[in-house]
Amino acid sequence: MFVHRVWPARGLNGEDRGSLYARDPSRLSLVAGSQEGSKAVLPPMAIVWPCTLSVDEYAACGREVDFELPECPECSAPMGSWWGYERYVRQGGVDRKIWIRRARCKACRVTHALLPAFCLTNRLDTADVIGDALEAVVEGPGGVRPAAETAGVPYTTARGWARRLVARAQELSVAFFALAVDLGGPVVSAGSDGARRAVSAIGTAWSAACSFPGWVGIGRWRFASCVSGGSLLAVNTNSPWLVVGRRRFMPPVP
Ligand SMILES: [Zn+2]
Repeated sequence: MFVHRVWPARGLNGEDRGSLYARDPSRLSLVAGSQEGSKAVLPPMAIVWPCTLSVDEYAACGREVDFELPECPECSAPMGSWWGYERYVRQGGVDRKIWIRRARCKACRVTHALLPAFCLTNRLDTADVIGDALEAVVEGPGGVRPAAETAGVPYTTARGWARRLVARAQELSVAFFALAVDLGGPVVSAGSDGARRAVSAIGTAWSAACSFPGWVGIGRWRFASCVSGGSLLAVNTNSPWLVVGRRRFMPPVP
């Protein structure tokens, strides 16, 4: 069982801080990435914050997108705002330029990108688009081609996602089923197909998370981006692991 720690700053959305529930995702710092070894050799880590805005709403905010900065994932000190960068994100076949804020820890001298939950690292398409396509591939009768058409992406792009899912299926299944149990969800006897099992594991973990206030609104694929630090389909990554406050949820190694 890991302990969730609330973010220490002002309330979001006019909430009264005293009433905040410890597992409300709007209060959680969810970070994933490699933490071993010297900080000096680590690339800046992405922190995925549980953004519920649509891509259009987020893009419309420009550089003024406002949310509570998380604490430093290394030392838990409050972080300060630190410039940012532009990147593109694609949804419904349309590219949008968005602003990604960065935060900096003075003590660690490290900056962190603060990705909204609809983003995955190194993927142009949103977590929702990619996730829905993957679900269609594993659940639907038609395979990759109709899923690509629905997503509005080239066939080869959707095929790439599906291949990444297959390559990471065992790792993701173990991690998300374990997370589901940790969140009070059921112990699921997994089916045989790897990719389908991984999608099922993500859904099971999200369902378990939905028993806590706030998660329902974020959707399963943004949830998956949050808990994997945006690296759901990353090529070179350690097992997805979840940092909530000072505690890290380390999934079993398959
Ligand atoms: Zn720090």
